[in-house]
Amino acid sequence: MSQNFVDTLVIGAGASGLAFSALMAQSGHDFVCLEAHSLPGGCASFFKSKGMSFDVGATTLSGMAFNGPLKQFIDQVDLDIELTHIDPGVVISTQGQKIKRFCNRLDWIEEQSRVFKNVSVYDLWNQIEANNETCWKVTSSSRYYPPQNLNDLKKLGFTHIGDKLSVLPLCLRNFESYFLSTLLTTNEYKKFLNELLMISAQNTIDQAPAIVGVMGLSYNMDTWYPSGGMGEFSKSIVKKIKQFGGDIRFNHKVVSINQLSDDSGYIVETDKGETLRVRKIVSTLPLWNTQILLKHLNPSVLTRQAGLNPPVWGALTGYYKIKIETDFGSLYHQVHQDSYGRFKGQSSDSCFLSLSAAKDYLRGENEVRSGYRTLSISTHIDLSEYSKLLAQEGEAGLKAYWDESFQKVIKNYFGSICIELENTGIGDPKTFEKFTSRHQGCVGGLPHDMRKSIFRYPSSKTGLENVFQIGDTTFPGQGVVGVLMGAMNLFYRHFS
Ligand SMILES: Cc1cc2nc3c(=O)[nH]c(=O)nc-3n(C[C@H](O)[C@H](O)[C@H](O)COP(=O)(O)OP(=O)(O)OC[C@H]3O[C@@H](n4cnc5c(N)ncnc54)[C@H](O)[C@@H]3O)c2cc1C
Repeated sequence: MSQNFVDTLVIGAGASGLAFSALMAQSGHDFVCLEAHSLPGGCASFFKSKGMSFDVGATTLSGMAFNGPLKQFIDQVDLDIELTHIDPGVVISTQGQKIKRFCNRLDWIEEQSRVFKNVSVYDLWNQIEANNETCWKVTSSSRYYPPQNLNDLKKLGFTHIGDKLSVLPLCLRNFESYFLSTLLTTNEYKKFLNELLMISAQNTIDQAPAIVGVMGLSYNMDTWYPSGGMGEFSKSIVKKIKQFGGDIRFNHKVVSINQLSDDSGYIVETDKGETLRVRKIVSTLPLWNTQILLKHLNPSVLTRQAGLNPPVWGALTGYYKIKIETDFGSLYHQVHQDSYGRFKGQSSDSCFLSLSAAKDYLRGENEVRSGYRTLSISTHIDLSEYSKLLAQEGEAGLKAYWDESFQKVIKNYFGSICIELENTGIGDPKTFEKFTSRHQGCVGGLPHDMRKSIFRYPSSKTGLENVFQIGDTTFPGQGVVGVLMGAMNLFYRHFS
């Protein structure tokens, strides 16, 4: 490494590390961002195959409405990215029907009422929407909401205090008991809500705090497609970091961190055998990875957080080149497998399908002109179940089985309008571990869960001086929108 002292080290160039680094570069901080992989984006990255660019994990962006985190970040760094609002944000296939998640509340209510009779859909969604706006206004306007300690409470301020107080009860009860106990509902409808919430918040309505349920279930009214896919989103942030004069390096994996003998900071080693002295560290890795890097410095570092009990998921993904006649009006689809059940290893009852836009030439001009689009399909897998299956059946056999299962879901859903379908890869927890280094291939972040109060969700403090943690296992949490908010919160609290 040419320079061996830098004030701040950012570990990882996923969405959180990229956003944090862009803010650091814009404000002229002395920092370097080291990324293990050859490409930016982490779980929101891409790969090229058969002439096209495929999203590896995340396919949707959100957080533009109500001056949300994505809008704030784009405005702050003047990001050059083309986003298209997708309405309906998702088409849900359930009980033999297709339900379109229109952004317009009344249209969305009407769609659900067609299928779910004797459910107070109207009252429920009026309440969800009213609360959603307040939740976004409050969380996006204060860097200290919800307060995680007395200090945060002091710093919260009194502006919009009525809104702040009105949102607090939503942090204290689960979604189901808060909203559904006084409304007419059915088990089928609860299952429907659970599947919707699993894709945005990785949790169910009886375990997710009401605030998370409200914001998670509203995700699909504010869904955005980045032209070229998530890779373009990540690349556009790298471009900004470089324009601002920031230092970001790929193929540099941090392998050890030790305290400098005079306690003035840390000495960091990479897999290339280089060393770097730094004063501050911002880890954007899942907290288990951070804990492994730091525990010899303080054995109890992050132990309380790492011992959290809510389920942590792995993902099964399939990547396909597809030719279809229509996309039913949306790029995003959730297929509930009510008629044919779960397949081996699957831990939810649905698959999420993401198409690229029909004329998105950034995906691969020749292939798009020939009528091809990309299709990513994903579902949840329990990590311990995955280990058992892997030991019993071996990787190659399992992947062939999952390809077959995914193709069945896709062909069943699109039927005869699917003209061509070609697999370009299957991802499982081992794949994610290999490309993102995430401990045991856990992805999707740490769900907010009533079994661990929202006020005790892992914070950006690690317990070691000048070592901070952001990303999707740290408050405010999951998804690109959550990690953007986390990156901005840390930056404005401690680095601006
Ligand atoms: C299948 C799937 C679908 C998803 N869909 C969506 C979606 O549609 N919308 C959405 O908003 N979210 C979605 N998510 C979640 C979203 O992708 C993540 O929450 C988010 O991208 C996490 O970003 P991060 O920066 O916290 O972590 P990561 O993306 O994991 O980034 C961490 C980075 O650190 C690097 N790294 C690891 N170890 C080291 C090391 N020792 N040294 C240097 N670098 C290191 C990794 O290579 C990686 O690039 C999805 C996730 C998956 C898996």
